[in-house]
Amino acid sequence: MLPYSNPNHDFAFEQAVIGMALISLDGSILKVNSALSDLLGYSQQELTAGAPQEDSSIRALLNQVIWNARTAQDHPPLPARFEYVYHHPSNREVYLSICTMLQELDQRRRGYLVQFEDRTLLRQLMKQLELKEQKLTEEENAFLQLMEGLPLSVFITKKSIIHYVNAAALRLINATHPRDILGISTDVIVDVSDHNKLMKRRAKYAESGEIGSVDYLIRCLDGQEKMVTGFTLIINYEGEKAAVGIFKDITEQQMEEDRVMQSEKLTTAGQLAAGIAHEIRNPLTSINGFVKLLRSAERSNELYFEIIESELKRIELIVNELLVLSKPQSVHVSGPIDVFAIMEQIITLMKVQAALKNIEIIPHYPMAPVFVQGEVNQLKQVFINLLKNAMEAMNQGGTITLDILHNAQEVQIIVQDEGIGMTQEQIQSLGQPFVTTKDTGTGLGLMITKNIIHNHGGTMNVESVPDHGTTFTIHLPAL
Ligand code: ADP
Ligand code: MG
Repeated sequence: MLPYSNPNHDFAFEQAVIGMALISLDGSILKVNSALSDLLGYSQQELTAGAPQEDSSIRALLNQVIWNARTAQDHPPLPARFEYVYHHPSNREVYLSICTMLQELDQRRRGYLVQFEDRTLLRQLMKQLELKEQKLTEEENAFLQLMEGLPLSVFITKKSIIHYVNAAALRLINATHPRDILGISTDVIVDVSDHNKLMKRRAKYAESGEIGSVDYLIRCLDGQEKMVTGFTLIINYEGEKAAVGIFKDITEQQMEEDRVMQSEKLTTAGQLAAGIAHEIRNPLTSINGFVKLLRSAERSNELYFEIIESELKRIELIVNELLVLSKPQSVHVSGPIDVFAIMEQIITLMKVQAALKNIEIIPHYPMAPVFVQGEVNQLKQVFINLLKNAMEAMNQGGTITLDILHNAQEVQIIVQDEGIGMTQEQIQSLGQPFVTTKDTGTGLGLMITKNIIHNHGGTMNVESVPDHGTTFTIHLPAL
């Protein structure tokens, strides 16, 4: 046993899990425990005998210990702590956290009690963590770069508040800097007319976690209106659930569609003009006659006025229908629509033209009013297009029947004619623009019809037998 020892301290010293040493003031190792001998790669005897002190690694370590301890002596009784990278004889680096304390070794001598803690594993773990973090940051950067470069507009929202927008999204809403838009609710961007849609989607998400594609009318920061189409996904963003909306500007496309629809409507109006002129001429003739009668009559006849009034109403009705057709549809107002009422109005409009071609239009009335959700003028357009086609297919005359069937889920509108019918190939190409078999046809009617039905959440079926007739069935969701 060494002179500067005490049996209790010796035991604690030897058994300590961290490396311990007693070092003299001039830097010779007096005593080490086995944990330190493992750490430094030399036996306890070798270390205390001074032999490995020839080893430059041990020498450098001891110098560092003494230097730090002496510096710390200026501020006793603080222990000196420092980090040190020790070069182990087995050629690896050991990261040490070293703490030195000046101590009385016995009555005569003072020395340093030095603790060596192995931080190598910790260092490695830290290093790995750092690398992982770096990789994550790189991935995130790549992801952000991708988002920024994407031509589609990306919005990330949490509870309807915008947390991220990419460059395309900024352009979409005419913003110059993300700060113009971050923190704003999507309610501000989506036009008031679509707030219902927005709320329904939120409710649907809350109920089923489901969220899909959608079209919105949006209002840009400078007030400009745009139509967008897109879809929403739910992701984890910065540790929370968030919605990523990916949108495309379809304003131009929509305008083009509106233009096509408008020009088709004008064509239809032109083609209907002959029938309408006829329809207006009849009441005008009768009004003319009654006015003449009134002039020659001794006193006015109440009946004449009634007839004149009703004929004027009729003219008004027809002129109104004609105006509906030529009105642009930039405003898409949707509401509950009485299908049968529309059908009646259209029949009024087309009846004369039909009669001229020896065609009878027979509507089958439903028992009670049938409602669908939609836009009146567009649904009128559907009836007009189908009836016009039916009439144009019936050069020999005949009947066109109109039926409205309904149950809780859907409303069916069936237009059946006795015309020339279509071959299977013709049916296949229905609805493709500019495909027509008529000299003055546009081949746009059914495309628009399909489009309108699709926008109303419906579908259309066709059955046809050449030389016998055609049946168009429209399915629309019931209100
Ligand atoms: P258009 O009437 O201008 O030709 P549409 O898109 O309305 O354009 O119709 C496209 C084509 O579909 C018509 O040219 C015709 O060949 C066929 N078609 C449509 N409806 C009928 C029908 N009821 N009976 C027979 N053929 C039809
Ligand atoms: Mg047509």
